[in-house]
Amino acid sequence: MFNSYSMTQMAASIANAMGIAAPLQADKSIPLVDAFVAHTLGDSKADRVLIYNPDCIGLWHYQKYTDLFIPVLVNSQLTVPMATVSPAWTPVCFASMYTGVLPSVHGIQKYEKPVVKVDSLFDAVPRSGKKAANVAVEHSSMSLIFLQRPVDYHIVESDDKAVEEAVKLIESDKHDLITVYNQEYDDMIHMTTPESVAAINAIRHHVQAFVTLVDAVKRCWTDHNTLVVFAPDHGNHYDYNGHGNHGEFREEDVNVNHYYSIIPRRDK
Ligand SMILES: [Zn+2]
Repeated sequence: MFNSYSMTQMAASIANAMGIAAPLQADKSIPLVDAFVAHTLGDSKADRVLIYNPDCIGLWHYQKYTDLFIPVLVNSQLTVPMATVSPAWTPVCFASMYTGVLPSVHGIQKYEKPVVKVDSLFDAVPRSGKKAANVAVEHSSMSLIFLQRPVDYHIVESDDKAVEEAVKLIESDKHDLITVYNQEYDDMIHMTTPESVAAINAIRHHVQAFVTLVDAVKRCWTDHNTLVVFAPDHGNHYDYNGHGNHGEFREEDVNVNHYYSIIPRRDK
């Protein structure tokens, strides 16, 4: 059983929440996210969006290791079951997440990291007069495939530095959209297995990073209605060689959960 909402629906959902036009070719938005934003903010929009992208965390991790996700769940109001695109490789999935189109349209259909030529949120946000920042670990897909946009790039050497940099950006309160990419769990499943001690600890680090970012938003963005999203790109499975892998059309790789939270402006 695959989740029914497609990864191609996220870009328009974020644009709708911000009250801006979606990327030019983006798929329709997610009705659940639209309803959540309307229910929570009424006629207002999210004037800040923070998207945390931990690599490789699937639906089955939430099912099997629910306790690990408690800090994410208590800091979210909405869980959205998503089906990522195929083949479920990192650059393929993130390209669809931020353009709203299928791999056959954005052009990344295998593990390669060219600059995506199709219109994306990193184009739509600046076009609407808003500012975007992309914080990512060097050499990662997220650090490469959305270059050449009028976006502030913060390419750093580690997950920890990415979170640190993002907190600084939140404190400076200058960007309408901030995306933050972390990769430790993906690295660990390929080096070890999807459920090794090191891998599970990596999930724990990603959960903690999310809480750190949420805390920074609560501390610094009190004048804004902020949408926060915990949005992995794909899941993973045990490969024949015992290591973790992904890129196949199977539930463990395709099904992911995204977690949404709105932190409303604080009345003075
Ligand atoms: Zn990935």
